[in-house]
Amino acid sequence: MNTVCLDRALPVDTTIPDPSLVCLIGPAGSGKSTWASTWPDTQVLELDRFRALVSDDAGCQEATGDAAAALQAVLKARLARRKMTIVDATNTEKAVRADLLQAARDHGVPAVAFLVCAPVDVCIARQAGRSPARAVPEDVVRRQHADTIAAFPHLRDEGFAHVVFADTIHRLEPLLRRASATRRAELGWNGGGGLPGLRRAGCLLGLLTVRRVFGSEVLPLWRWRADSQLAGGDRVGEIRLGPDRMVLALRTSSEDVGAFGFDLLVGCPVDDGCVAPAWAPVFSVCDLLAAHTTAIVHPDTVCTVHGGPDRTGCDQGGDHTDGDETHAPRPRL
Ligand code: GDP
Ligand code: MG
Repeated sequence: MNTVCLDRALPVDTTIPDPSLVCLIGPAGSGKSTWASTWPDTQVLELDRFRALVSDDAGCQEATGDAAAALQAVLKARLARRKMTIVDATNTEKAVRADLLQAARDHGVPAVAFLVCAPVDVCIARQAGRSPARAVPEDVVRRQHADTIAAFPHLRDEGFAHVVFADTIHRLEPLLRRASATRRAELGWNGGGGLPGLRRAGCLLGLLTVRRVFGSEVLPLWRWRADSQLAGGDRVGEIRLGPDRMVLALRTSSEDVGAFGFDLLVGCPVDDGCVAPAWAPVFSVCDLLAAHTTAIVHPDTVCTVHGGPDRTGCDQGGDHTDGDETHAPRPRL
């Protein structure tokens, strides 16, 4: 069993067994559904979805009782089959957690409390981006946030076998793995060489470009970095989930209007001690998965100081001259 210490006093278990019943706990807007999306769809029982299934309205509060009953029925059917199950609801009320824990106990499946707790102001701000029917009032979000914090010290005693914090859990890999498999199936393609002609695919910029290249699964994790100069003036964005982060630059061609592509920030392919930015082209979520999970260096990776793995000179105006393979590298950026 893995354990880490937060604030030294609180031993926090990072184990999520399979099968288990994972109860997400956190206020509206904290990111529960984002985390839930890292598990396969069939494993996630989202209360909003059950509200929609019984009422055609995911925000219909009057339907909560029926939705919770339907969710419990599916939950029991899954646990009876010892299937990994994630319950995506606020679960900030002890009585609600008690029902979930009872179902887990009845079927001998361990229960995991998965705490998702963004700052309360962030949770409130995120309600502004939702449709009026889905937006949760500020006072309710504040109460849910306070209830989450108050619940934490008691979760073990309530019966959770494991208590984990989202911020310590690495779930980007399974998300990329599933997205990658979907893309491969959609395109009937093995992903190895990228998408021919994609850099000429037209003037699709901004988030549409991100979605087009990496897919809708990655889009909610994407943020542009305003005014970043990391990529020599090109737009920089990042894919971020908990402790995982991938930084990318959007390259557009001034000669070929509409041509575009992404480069991923990686380690220098030439010198392990080099801290200068190096960029590797990525053409799809499959390339992101490969970069995130393997040490394979893309052959077109270029360090801003050392150039590529088969070059000792600098690509971007360095002091390299033809035939001179022994020059000193440029100063680091
Ligand atoms: P819920 O109400 O707790 O289910 O919250 P959501 O999962 O719907 O999160 C609201 C928004 O916050 C999402 O649309 C995401 O854009 C953003 N968000 C939440 N968690 C994360 C995260 O871990 N990483 C990133 N990049 N964005 C997140
Ligand atoms: Mg949600």
